Amino acid sequence: MRLLLLILLSIAPILHAGEYKLPYGYPLETCLSCGDPLGGAPTILIHGGRQLKFCSLACVGSFTKSPETMISNLEEQIRISQRDKYQLKTCVISGHELGSMGEPVEWVHGNTLVKFCCGACIEKFEADPDKFLLMINSDSSDLPAHFVPRKQ
Ligand SMILES: [Zn+2]
Ligand SMILES: [Zn+2]
Repeated sequence: MRLLLLILLSIAPILHAGEYKLPYGYPLETCLSCGDPLGGAPTILIHGGRQLKFCSLACVGSFTKSPETMISNLEEQIRISQRDKYQLKTCVISGHELGSMGEPVEWVHGNTLVKFCCGACIEKFEADPDKFLLMINSDSSDLPAHFVPRKQ
């Protein structure tokens, strides 16, 4: 246990490195690992292109033991918190109205929810996600600097 803590402490500066911009704020106010409130200075981990927050380094350690379960919990929270705020009525890939080809397909990229007309559109989205995320968030008021409005 002590060895694990030492390893985690030695990588701590990496966990905090760099500024990571999100089109939406982080969806949870609790630690992804233990469920306790995050408080003012959470430990941030960038994992697979997404930002994750933990109350302590020990909880980062727990996460690394079963990341899949915790990621799927996070994705469910993202779906719940962003579903009703989603700004497009059409599929960002095909332009078809969402729901016109059956239930829209929900996809979580990074910490952002995206809706497609069908599962076949996911692959096209993932080929150039930044371009499509720009379209999805173009009218939002709390955009990070690199997201510019579509209409100008
Ligand atoms: Zn925790
Ligand atoms: Zn489609």
